[in-house]
Amino acid sequence: APAPPPARHHFNEPGEVEALRGNLLAWYDRCKRDLPWRALAAAEPDADRRGYAVWVSEIMLQQTQVATVIDYYNRWMQKWPTLQALAQASLEEVNELWAGLGYYSRGKRLQEAARKVVSELAGHMPRTAEDLQKLLPGVGRYTAGAIASISYGQATGVVDGNVIRVLCRLRCIGADSSSPAVIDRLWDMANALVDRSRPGDFNQALMELGATVCVPKAPLCGECPVKQHCRARHRKLFGKPVPVSDIEDCGVGDCPLCPPATEPWDSSLGVTNFPRKAAKKQPRAMRTATCVLEQRSCRGAPKYLIVQRPSSGLLAGLWEFPSLPLPQDLQEEKEREVLADHLQAWMGQPVAAKGLQFIGEVIHIFSHIHQTYVVYSLHLDGDVTLDPASSPSRWVTAEEFHASAVSTAMKKVLR
Ligand code: SF4
Repeated sequence: APAPPPARHHFNEPGEVEALRGNLLAWYDRCKRDLPWRALAAAEPDADRRGYAVWVSEIMLQQTQVATVIDYYNRWMQKWPTLQALAQASLEEVNELWAGLGYYSRGKRLQEAARKVVSELAGHMPRTAEDLQKLLPGVGRYTAGAIASISYGQATGVVDGNVIRVLCRLRCIGADSSSPAVIDRLWDMANALVDRSRPGDFNQALMELGATVCVPKAPLCGECPVKQHCRARHRKLFGKPVPVSDIEDCGVGDCPLCPPATEPWDSSLGVTNFPRKAAKKQPRAMRTATCVLEQRSCRGAPKYLIVQRPSSGLLAGLWEFPSLPLPQDLQEEKEREVLADHLQAWMGQPVAAKGLQFIGEVIHIFSHIHQTYVVYSLHLDGDVTLDPASSPSRWVTAEEFHASAVSTAMKKVLR
């Protein structure tokens, strides 16, 4: 068992936990946002369907804003209202619906897991956080806790980015909030705090507080339902840590949850002193040449060649304009030559490097890659027959392109 957190970072005043739960839940009942997955989970009597509805929302919400997710969620649940329906979908359909939501492996893994539930678990979702995490691919500790508490009423906590921020502020935790030692302590805290009779609502309330009130840059402390329990706010208002009965201050430098001695409390930051993170690794820079091949014929709208990416790795299985990663510092002339060779392999006919027209550069930031697409275009007259032996490729109109499983970056390239 992990060592208990230093006493200053506990919820250790008599009645404090009960008061915090009560205040938070009362605020949630009054102020919670109306979200489609909440309505579905509340109205759904079937436990498996309820678990599925929450699961889909949790996977979509990873790394993605609520406002963006709503439309995708509604379309997904309309198309695949049950695990069984999703298990029968093709990966192409899943990728098409997911297109634009980012982090594409999420959709693929959700579908793989649905197939597993149908084929190996007789269509029944596991009912506890432990089993959900153990049995479902792509379901980590957070998602398992969220599904189990919201759908099945298990009294288990959750820790996501919002919860990290709120707890670190409530308890003045200033050590690196991405370090395993701090994360472990936050899980212990979340499990101890969660309301035993309304665990799902409590967890959603804590996350909602982080998303709407205890926001990263300018938290609305005046409106906060748990402000009287917040030690960061106390420190901001009174200029010193909250006095805690019978407890000595943490010794500077040796408390695993306090800010490091080299980065003490900064009064100009107020409550946003917390949480703190170690400096992020810079994303890797990549350059990729891409060519919008446009086929014009006298019969109808222009068509564009798209090709399918490999089934693993970045943007697995998605469609894109023929593209080629470039070494850094390649001269433009050389760039054209290697791209022309690459196009020739797709089209089975020679492509003159001089015919490639440079259009511009498109920058797209993936989580760990700073990608620059160097965009060329080439107009072809007449029909081009693709080599069926090469990897999947097809000609599409602009309308078909947008309905295909293409990434947001490729839509930028076409624009
Ligand atoms: Fe966050 Fe402010 Fe509430 Fe503390 S009082 S939990 S910093 S919003």
